Amino acid sequence: MMRSVLAVGAHPDDIELGCGGALAAHRAAGDKVTMLVVTGGQNGPGLVTERRAESEAAARSLDCLLIWGHLLDCAVHPDSGTIGLIEDAIRQTEADVVYVHAPDDSHQDHRAVAAATISAARHTRRVLHYRSPSTTRFEPSLYVDISAHLDRKLAALACHRSQVESSLMVEPEVVAASARHFGAQARVRFAEAFVPSRFVWDLSPPPQLPLVGAEAPAFEEAPAFETAYPSRAVT
Ligand SMILES: [Zn+2]
Repeated sequence: MMRSVLAVGAHPDDIELGCGGALAAHRAAGDKVTMLVVTGGQNGPGLVTERRAESEAAARSLDCLLIWGHLLDCAVHPDSGTIGLIEDAIRQTEADVVYVHAPDDSHQDHRAVAAATISAARHTRRVLHYRSPSTTRFEPSLYVDISAHLDRKLAALACHRSQVESSLMVEPEVVAASARHFGAQARVRFAEAFVPSRFVWDLSPPPQLPLVGAEAPAFEEAPAFETAYPSRAVT
């Protein structure tokens, strides 16, 4: 079943850092993925035009669609304007999975975007919070195995040259170490970690492919309930 995924971030590079590996995994699974960057990253480092081009290159490298929110860096409020912007993106993309910042964060924009998204995604069945370098309290309980996608995450982050050059936070070694740390928690090699606001587990079976030129195989008759689950003799 194809899912529609919306990843929301306050600034260019937040999404790639928080859930770039999961987005690559979604694309590999055939899901539609849209990234919404709420501000242009006007407070730098780097020029807005440069950061915009870097985000576009990163989105291309992850094969995701990119949309911009046009709010002002460092001045995002979780008000009706911001909520409306995110609601519009959820509606346009018909998102059934939303990734966003964790609510406890020392950056006011990250806190505001998390709060606005929780309101905007009140009808969305899966809302997952990712960690940023400025996140404070973060106790993950849901992981995405990105062992096959860490390279793509690192390649997407490398597109943000203006940030990579000026911040230790996006150093490939730190990103890989973090993925290995969460991988150990998740019992896989590399993982991204999330705190769910809501996660509805969809257990519906995958759609059956029509059989062409062949008879459908006969299913073995299921054993009677008593045979499958013999009751224990009461002694
Ligand atoms: Zn940020």
